[in-house]
Amino acid sequence: MSLRVRFAPSPTGYLHVGGARTALFNWLLARREGGTFVLRIEDTDRERSSPAMVEAILEGMAWLGLDWDEGPWHQAEGVGRHRADALRLLDEGKAYRDFTRPEELARLREEDPDRVIAYPREAADALSEEEEARLLEAGAPFAIRFRVPPGETVWVDRVHGETRFPNGSIEDLVLLRTDGTPTYNLAVVSDDAAMRINLVMRGDDHISNTPKQILLHEALGNPVPDFAHVPMILGPDGKRLSKRHGATAIGDYAHFGILPGAMANFLALLGWSPGTDEEIFTREELVERFSLERVHRKSAVFDPRKLEWMNGEHIARLPIEQLLEHVRAALEEGYPEAARAARELGSERLAGVVRILVPRARVLDDLADRARPFLERRIAYHPEAVRKHWAKDPAAAAGHLEALERTFEETPWREDALEEALRGLAAERGVGAGKLIHPLRVALLGEAVSPGIFEVLVAMGRELALARIRAGREQLAGLERDGA
Ligand code: GLU
Repeated sequence: MSLRVRFAPSPTGYLHVGGARTALFNWLLARREGGTFVLRIEDTDRERSSPAMVEAILEGMAWLGLDWDEGPWHQAEGVGRHRADALRLLDEGKAYRDFTRPEELARLREEDPDRVIAYPREAADALSEEEEARLLEAGAPFAIRFRVPPGETVWVDRVHGETRFPNGSIEDLVLLRTDGTPTYNLAVVSDDAAMRINLVMRGDDHISNTPKQILLHEALGNPVPDFAHVPMILGPDGKRLSKRHGATAIGDYAHFGILPGAMANFLALLGWSPGTDEEIFTREELVERFSLERVHRKSAVFDPRKLEWMNGEHIARLPIEQLLEHVRAALEEGYPEAARAARELGSERLAGVVRILVPRARVLDDLADRARPFLERRIAYHPEAVRKHWAKDPAAAAGHLEALERTFEETPWREDALEEALRGLAAERGVGAGKLIHPLRVALLGEAVSPGIFEVLVAMGRELALARIRAGREQLAGLERDGA
């Protein structure tokens, strides 16, 4: 029998990290086993669901590359079937009408809270057929409740192993509310059966629903699906992941410059591990490696810094043409001068710049931001960098820059030659190479950290680098005057 799994989001919010992880696990398993991945939108809660949220969920899934084979089915369209299932159980005596008024239950809750759970069945059983007929005739509102059978419900959870619930701990759940609308548990069971789902994989916050759903499947004579409950996702503080921890909607990550492949990689490792130290996987590799046996029971922790690191690793694996395309587009959007310079520079030189920026980039936009000083004439000096490497001794820094300018004017513009020249100059001046490199870096990029300085010089090109050194000297002259 081939695997049929489903993802069943409620469109009462965006596709959030937890939902996306559950969707991904289902998709991975379906793809790995050649099964079918069904998408079902659980929109029976008309008030809280909205078409915009459905759209956002579909978009989020498309962005992550999670294509579905069937659906999206809309749960609300199955209400007729849900009702028919409830009425069948009523007919067969496996469910009963509950005429208890809400006021009655509220009173009981005050007076005898221990009986609240047992009360509806007691009241229904105490009702004679004639009394029930009279109530129905009078149009008295009623809910339909499932008569939970005695015994124990046991299933072998594909993640948690054997799991047991004494049926005595389960209340007679409502199947149809007094207004005739089906409840979540009924709708899910009815739909899972209709869609021939044979493995229900979902967050373990649903674990207490599972015995109810198993009992309902059994009562309806459905084949009971397997269940796999995947662990919750916690924030770095150990609390359940929520808006407090920053972005939780998948769509936000797309805007932050996270690559879909990196997000999928990151989500896969929230609750699953490959059994080795490897951490970077493409989607195809994940499909190949994923297995339920390696899904953890323990909750997973969402670490945004790890996501950024992983994104950097995925960026580094992208073809350079794709990176250039992104950088060009980002520059065109926000920085016309840099965009023009990038066009004039040509692909090969721009690639030279982008390549040295890649190892430090965490999100795609870092590349465009950090490419700007290589392209624009104007430079912004970072105050912290100035304080650290220029302001302490402006005269010395200016002297070093002047010497570097003279030396570099005569140096072939290659990394090895530039390095040799700089180190020779440092020796000549009786200082460590760092004394030259630090003020030079501030002059070139306005920053205290950067890729290797010789790579920076080459990527920047002789003309701009020398202009920057001259501009740096002017700045330093200003600092000396202000300090004097
Ligand atoms: N619609 C439910 C939810 O969003 C999922 C139900 C299920 O997976 O069984 O939590």
